[in-house]
Amino acid sequence: MTEFTDLNISSWIIDQLKLIGVKKPTPIQQNCIPAILSGKDCIGCAKTGSGKTLAFALPILQKLSEDPYGIFALVLTPTRELAFQIGDQFAAIGKTINLKKCTIVGGMDMVVQGQELARHPHIVVATPGRLADHLESCNTFSLARIKFLVLDEADRLLGGHFDEQLSVIFKALPKNRQSLLFSATITDALDKVKQVSTKEWFIWESTDD
Ligand code: ADP
Ligand code: MG
Repeated sequence: MTEFTDLNISSWIIDQLKLIGVKKPTPIQQNCIPAILSGKDCIGCAKTGSGKTLAFALPILQKLSEDPYGIFALVLTPTRELAFQIGDQFAAIGKTINLKKCTIVGGMDMVVQGQELARHPHIVVATPGRLADHLESCNTFSLARIKFLVLDEADRLLGGHFDEQLSVIFKALPKNRQSLLFSATITDALDKVKQVSTKEWFIWESTDD
């Protein structure tokens, strides 16, 4: 039985996980965490509820604690609700390292969000439309040095609806980042991943339905 320690996850993370009732890694976590920690670009597919958020959040937090540095990771997701849920999971585990995260979604004050972005959060969780608005309207923050780009619900993000906003965002990102895509299904949209990274992907797909 694989444990989080077998995946080289630090004890401070494991302690926080215990507090939220997480004891053993799910299959997508067992497979994707080592690939991400080893520096690979990663595509992980498994059904809803399989623990995809922690599959990317834990290795990002692990790396962040080893080398904190500006805006470290950008997580894009298609809806406000998902953005808040992802932000909450990062916050729950990141307490120990005083994680600064910022959630950038539509329907909230642009000025307040701009101030939060200017304070150099470690993790930015965003919906594409609102983040693209910020990139086009202000220059008080930069994504030029992020280490990780995550596309959560990647099939929906790459399905066409967000193309314009994603192209604004991708232009602001450095080439030498790690790209992580998570999705419930591998669809035709994932053929577009070459726009995200031309490196070789580590791909893990659950065999459950
Ligand atoms: P997905 O993105 O795959 O739909 P989530 O990442 O949102 O799923 O996780 C669903 C729920 O499972 C969350 O409440 C999360 O805290 C919980 N969870 C994640 N990983 C584990 C684990 N290893 N053990 C127990 N619960 C977990
Ligand atoms: Mg999810």
